[in-house]
Amino acid sequence: MDVLHVFSIPLRTRFRGITVREGVLLRGDAGWGEWSPFLEYDDATARPWLACAREAADVGWPEPLRDAVPVNVTVPATDPERAHAIVTAGGCRTAKVKVAEPGQVLADDLDRVEAVRDALGPDGLVRVDANGAWDVDEAVRAIAAIDRAAGGLEYVEQPVWDVEDLAVVRRRVDVPVAADESIRRAEDPYRVRDLEAADVAVLKVQPLGGVRACLRIAEDIGLPVVVSSAVESSVGIAAGVALAAALPELPHACGLATVQLLSDDVVADPLLPVDGMLRVGRPDVDDAALARLAADADRVAHWRDRLASVGQDRPS
Ligand SMILES: [Mg+2]
Repeated sequence: MDVLHVFSIPLRTRFRGITVREGVLLRGDAGWGEWSPFLEYDDATARPWLACAREAADVGWPEPLRDAVPVNVTVPATDPERAHAIVTAGGCRTAKVKVAEPGQVLADDLDRVEAVRDALGPDGLVRVDANGAWDVDEAVRAIAAIDRAAGGLEYVEQPVWDVEDLAVVRRRVDVPVAADESIRRAEDPYRVRDLEAADVAVLKVQPLGGVRACLRIAEDIGLPVVVSSAVESSVGIAAGVALAAALPELPHACGLATVQLLSDDVVADPLLPVDGMLRVGRPDVDDAALARLAADADRVAHWRDRLASVGQDRPS
């Protein structure tokens, strides 16, 4: 039996309630692929994630149209001083600012985006992400205020949770709206399109079944795409970069600068931004890192069972 490379990488800070990122690296004729569906996902949900890994390992990706892709720095719901420092240190020309954090008020968001604008200067782009936390009226009020405080927003990501509400908010505000959590499965982008719920579609390669699947979706829905990560290792991030590099148009910076959320990586030269750009290409998996980050035997057994279950051919 093939060696199963199951990695377990501690996160620097908690994300989606987890503190360790686990996944499987598959090696095929084309290179390495990453399969890292979240642990609570059922087999059907995890299946497109595996298709993405197999595409990377067995087939490879379409020819890139660019050799680097712009990415945003992400500013968590922190105080203005720290927000300013994160943007200054990040070296990116686009900042994504988390807003609508539980326990905070709108004034916190306004102070944070003002600090981010100050750090970026007038030419930088500020987008905000509410992760669906507002209701429709809150969203309309908050977006107008934040847009003023930011000196103009590039877009607001997922201001409300339901895609129907997203469509309502989009009709009531001047700021473009991006759909993120509204796009989780392959059929979701079409619903966003049909409801005219967003101006921008955030696509992630693993949940949507790989680079080619996402290129088809992008063509079908006719919306500008922002490629985002599922907090993968550099092997998984490279698939997102491959999509961003192959899109006919890439008008916005991508949300792929997330390797720094991990405390370590399976490659020797992690996919970290340089001057706000990620290079296109396949990072080399590092044997020493694989050994250092190898999961315990019981976790390997878990992933082996899961791979066998999810990897079975779909019943016809
Ligand atoms: Mg988001």
